[in-house]
Amino acid sequence: MKGNPVINGVRDDFGYRHGEDCRGFTREECKLWDKAESDEEREALKDRRDERRLREHKERERRDWGRTQAGQLLKQLGETFEAYRQCVMEDPQLQEKALEFDQVNQKIFNKMKSTIDRANSAPRCQYPKGNGETCRAPRIRGKKYCHMHLMMEEARPVKLRLPNLADAAGIHGAIATGAQAVVDGKLDYKQASILGYYLQLALSNVGNVDYEEEEEVLTTD
Ligand SMILES: [Zn+2]
Repeated sequence: MKGNPVINGVRDDFGYRHGEDCRGFTREECKLWDKAESDEEREALKDRRDERRLREHKERERRDWGRTQAGQLLKQLGETFEAYRQCVMEDPQLQEKALEFDQVNQKIFNKMKSTIDRANSAPRCQYPKGNGETCRAPRIRGKKYCHMHLMMEEARPVKLRLPNLADAAGIHGAIATGAQAVVDGKLDYKQASILGYYLQLALSNVGNVDYEEEEEVLTTD
């Protein structure tokens, strides 16, 4: 990523689009920016702008792909492969002729076909989708999920089990757990700060709070 000389400017290399100002904001985003009252709000707006620009960049690339030489060749390759597969399925003897008259290309076809067949019979990802079905993409060897879902699982926030914070020992246990989670990269900066804040709060309150249940004192007149 290149440095951008414009203050609060874009943090990508996608270039500017019609309707954006020199910081990459659309008119609507600009209005929100002027109304923003805190750095947090402004940061959120910058993130929102960057996300929109990335989305638009991808859309534009997707549209352009079909017009590139590679895009057209790949499309032809897929279509031709399917058509030829259909051909040899209907007349298996064609393959013998092809091996005799065009060995190079028949071998390329065979290689592609066996790779695809193998992929199709590979164990499937078990990741549950919202509609009650599972993902079905080929899973990574020795794992339960496909590449994408493995990454998603790893990125998922973990739940930390903190001890009871009622006494100093519990709080120290929680500090150790939190510190380990930070070292392991399981907590981001914001989460770690919030946890730190609560642990500090708990530590400063310990001793001031009586957790023993007080017996109710009934006064009778
Ligand atoms: Zn999957």
